Amino acid sequence: MTAADFPALDALPGERRTDLAPGLSVVPLKSPTLPPATRTNAWLLGQRDVVVVDPASPWDAPRQAFLDALEGRRVQAIFLTHHHVDHVSGAAWLAEQTGAPVLAHAETADRIELPVARLLDEGDVVQTDAGDWRCLHTPGHAPGHLCLWRAPLPGEARGELVAGDMVAGEGTILLDPPEGHLQTYLDSLERLLGLGPSRLLPAHGPALPDGPARLQAYIAHRHARTDQVQAALAAADDASSHDLASVVYPDLPAAFLPIAARQILVHLVWLRERGLVGVVGLDVGVDGAQVRPAAPVSDPRLRWRPSPPPPPGAPGHGDLAGR
Ligand SMILES: [Zn+2]
Repeated sequence: MTAADFPALDALPGERRTDLAPGLSVVPLKSPTLPPATRTNAWLLGQRDVVVVDPASPWDAPRQAFLDALEGRRVQAIFLTHHHVDHVSGAAWLAEQTGAPVLAHAETADRIELPVARLLDEGDVVQTDAGDWRCLHTPGHAPGHLCLWRAPLPGEARGELVAGDMVAGEGTILLDPPEGHLQTYLDSLERLLGLGPSRLLPAHGPALPDGPARLQAYIAHRHARTDQVQAALAAADDASSHDLASVVYPDLPAAFLPIAARQILVHLVWLRERGLVGVVGLDVGVDGAQVRPAAPVSDPRLRWRPSPPPPPGAPGHGDLAGR
């Protein structure tokens, strides 16, 4: 990944370091992320020797601003929460600048081009000069997604969580099937909720106080969205994820409908896994095929409809198209 893959930036962004606590700072860096977010937070864990989480800018000016914001801190490691382009686009550059090793989950390492020096998984510890952070494997948004958990210090009621793309302080979390998977994501959110973090430190937007309330709201929001998709499909007889996107997100500019349709799809897949909806075939006219049973469930051309309730006593029911 090089800067040439992204449009040039006209204005110099005002990247600055904010210190939240001893050993915890953040520099939001202009990144190729989805609007309304424009930056990805590079979290700095540690005081003099820092672990940098998700240095994501592919552009020279934000990168230089980041180096300036370090003010002499030594980069001891580069930690990647997951493989998405708006999280890793400055990692190779920063590794080259500082000689620091890149740390990531194996599922992340498999999906990026830069060398990962140390593979991390559930329970592994990232040490800093301001305390230890423990890796939590939290798939659902991305297969190799890792959060970092700092357990409560003496005198503290609750710990803190570097949350990556599990939650967002700005914008929403995109679940793109098949790698994005709703139940897996919900399970990960429930798990984080169980830790009761005081504060969530997301990859986009400001730190979120009252972690448990935020996590509960995220879980409730996803269930409400599933209900909405199910109701829209029931009213439509049969529909594609694009059709449903324009119903569920009526005010969305047309340019965002393809992304919205991916969000609808992740809910359709969740409903399908429970036998509540089925695939009736492909959108007619796209490639001439009305039914292609082998199409992956993430194919945006699939048309969907509600599954009929099973007859009393039936052991269950599958998709209408027999997939
Ligand atoms: Zn992401």
